[in-house]
Amino acid sequence: ATVPTIRLNNGVEIPQLGFGVYQVEPENTVEAVRTALEVGYRHIDTAEMYGNEKEVGQAIRESGIDPSEVFVTSKLNNGFHRRDDALRAFDQTMNDLGLEQLDLFLIHWPLPTIDVDYVETWKAMEEIYAGGRCRAIGVSNFNPHHLRRLFSETDVRPAVNQIEVHPYLANDEVRAFDADHEIVTEAWSPIAQGKVLDDPAITAIAETLGRTPAQVVLRWHVQRGDVVFPKSVTRKRVEENFALFDFELDEGQMATISGLDRGERTGPDPDTFDYVP
Ligand code: NAD
Repeated sequence: ATVPTIRLNNGVEIPQLGFGVYQVEPENTVEAVRTALEVGYRHIDTAEMYGNEKEVGQAIRESGIDPSEVFVTSKLNNGFHRRDDALRAFDQTMNDLGLEQLDLFLIHWPLPTIDVDYVETWKAMEEIYAGGRCRAIGVSNFNPHHLRRLFSETDVRPAVNQIEVHPYLANDEVRAFDADHEIVTEAWSPIAQGKVLDDPAITAIAETLGRTPAQVVLRWHVQRGDVVFPKSVTRKRVEENFALFDFELDEGQMATISGLDRGERTGPDPDTFDYVP
């Protein structure tokens, strides 16, 4: 079964399932992305912060697949929030990836407590978008109050908001706000870096369906309508995480997994995170 696409608010189509490369060492990245492309993934989620953009680009070029068929996302790192730094950082990302066009460029974190206002950063993102080398722009780790400021002080609506979402952090308020404003939610750490896979409610559903816990959790995201990009460097798991479109969770199973929400983050809180390298 093929991966469905979701239409962003500017008409660009994004594959709902992708491959994330956070914490994939640069020396392992070419192999990991090659494997993902062989398995059938056509969407890669990277970031300047991950230190592996060059290898992501190399793997795509070496695959023989037309680069226009692979949806690539990268993100502006925290140290580059000033306008001029942001424009330079985008150029560097394009150089490192070695691609003509980027599909999606995101502000990685809002950093609301540093001395650069993320509204300035978003205006730089608008300039980048206007330049035509990037098909869509968006944000990551933005809460509704951050987004409201963008709506009132800038012109372009973010196409996506990439936030932490998994069964222990349903993040439904932010997701609902995104949906109300034509912003697609992307769920990062969709299996909570593995933490939710031993949950008895999830293993029971997996057993009933003859699927793995990772497949059950990823399928839950898909049926909620979010975009996901699980990370693994193990071929068997990369294949497993891709096989999500030949089964379904029923309403009761969806509700059981949604009921596991306990507001538990695996990553930083966007309202207080202020790390600048
Ligand atoms: P994840 O939830 O995808 O979990 C990955 C870990 O789970 C792997 O290291 C592996 O140990 C394990 N795993 C993967 N597949 C498995 C399987 N089938 N069975 C058992 N274990 C399995 O965590 P992640 O990498 O943090 O998140 C995915 C992607 O989200 C990242 O690679 C990155 O692209 C993105 N991300 C974005 C942000 C952000 O701030 N925007 C933050 C974190 C992650």
